[in-house]
Amino acid sequence: MKIAVIGVGYVGLVSGVCFSDFGHHVVCVDKDPKKIETLEQGELPIYEPGLDVLLAKNTAAGRLSFTTKLPEALDGADAVFIAVGTPTRRGDGHADLSYVLAAATEVAQTLKHYSVIIIKSTVPVGTNQQVEDTVRSAAPDLDFDVASNPEFLREGSAIDDFMKPDRVIVGAESERASKVMADIYRPLYLRDYSILTTDRESAEMIKYAANAFLAIKITFINEIAALCERVGADVKEVSRGIGLDGRIGNKFLHAGPGYGGSCFPKDTSALARIGQENAQPVRLVEAAIQVNEDIKRRMIEKLLDLCDGSFSGKAVTVLGVTFKPNTDDMRAAPSLTIIPALLGNGAKVRVVDPHGYREGLELLPGVEWYDDVYKAASEADLVVVLTEWNEFRALDLSRLALGMATAKMADLRNVYSAEEAQEAGFVAYSSVGRRNLV
Ligand code: NAD
Repeated sequence: MKIAVIGVGYVGLVSGVCFSDFGHHVVCVDKDPKKIETLEQGELPIYEPGLDVLLAKNTAAGRLSFTTKLPEALDGADAVFIAVGTPTRRGDGHADLSYVLAAATEVAQTLKHYSVIIIKSTVPVGTNQQVEDTVRSAAPDLDFDVASNPEFLREGSAIDDFMKPDRVIVGAESERASKVMADIYRPLYLRDYSILTTDRESAEMIKYAANAFLAIKITFINEIAALCERVGADVKEVSRGIGLDGRIGNKFLHAGPGYGGSCFPKDTSALARIGQENAQPVRLVEAAIQVNEDIKRRMIEKLLDLCDGSFSGKAVTVLGVTFKPNTDDMRAAPSLTIIPALLGNGAKVRVVDPHGYREGLELLPGVEWYDDVYKAASEADLVVVLTEWNEFRALDLSRLALGMATAKMADLRNVYSAEEAQEAGFVAYSSVGRRNLV
């Protein structure tokens, strides 16, 4: 099969590379010439574990190429994936569909033969129909179908998620489109997974409902964590205890500094707007958004307590700035709320992150970047574990404490424990939803 992928972001690039690894011929197109140039040189514009190997393998095999020219990508394509961004629209919280609709119009103006236009971007219910109407009015004689195929990969484990998905969701309205979709995903059939073919509106809703459910789950445990701190319970024990119940499951029950990232904040916001616009507010989702904001604020108060009520003149070392480990993505990362609050109130902030520098340099002006945790914490007043990269999970706490001006730690990912911290010489240790040392 010949596949075109529009957008080489986290989703488009992983999808394109993985489709080529299935054996399809893939051309990825992006408007950003810098990203395409980087890819043409065999390098990656993003950090995603394992992607470099598959990129090299499939470009060498002649199955994968990159261009800024849409006609090149669409030439002979059986399927065209639109994987452009759908960020929050300024002002009203709705998903901004301008990139999707612009891409659809460009496809309509370029495509000359039957193809299935597949919306991989996360889009509100009705968008596939809107894309179909847009293409039809721009190219009334074009033979095409529009299908929905939302993506569920997680940054940091994107290749595994793509190659071994729990399920593939397809929303299609014609046999012909369903057949093309089945052919694209056929190489996965040997694995034990489900392909659910449904109508386009349900496919669109499945993506938002899945993300909202996960955002609510993580927010639930974060709120329980806040209560645990008040009543003297340990949220790690509580998570384990409730997660053993098969109806609840043990995933997404790790308390932390509130959800961030490129999907949950914008998708919960878009779903809330869809509810309001349809006179059916999704109040649980609205509450999760609010509670998540409160949780982030609570984290800043936690740090303030550790700094005896003032950040002024304090040296704070932050470990991890990306929204989660194994990605360089910083969209809506908790660090973007916490670090400006520290800097704005007079703290000197040093940061360490294995892959956060490229994005973070611009997003976090005023911080000092370090490669080495111990150097970054030398003479510091507080260390904050903000992203649980492997590099920060097995620190020599005694060495860390010894080098600090005042050995205090805010462990916002519950990597360590109050006992360990105390033994290592920390005079204060605060985590999320557990016993603290203060
Ligand atoms: P991204 O911002 O990383 O990438 C989007 C890319 O599209 C950019 O490189 C941009 O230059 C390109 N682009 C925009 N308009 C274009 C056009 N007309 N022609 C060619 N290229 C164009 O976005 P992302 O994180 O990959 O997300 C894409 C979609 O997938 C979003 O709807 C998102 O919600 C959804 N999604 C993302 C994830 C994730 O983990 N990032 C997971 C599942 C679903």
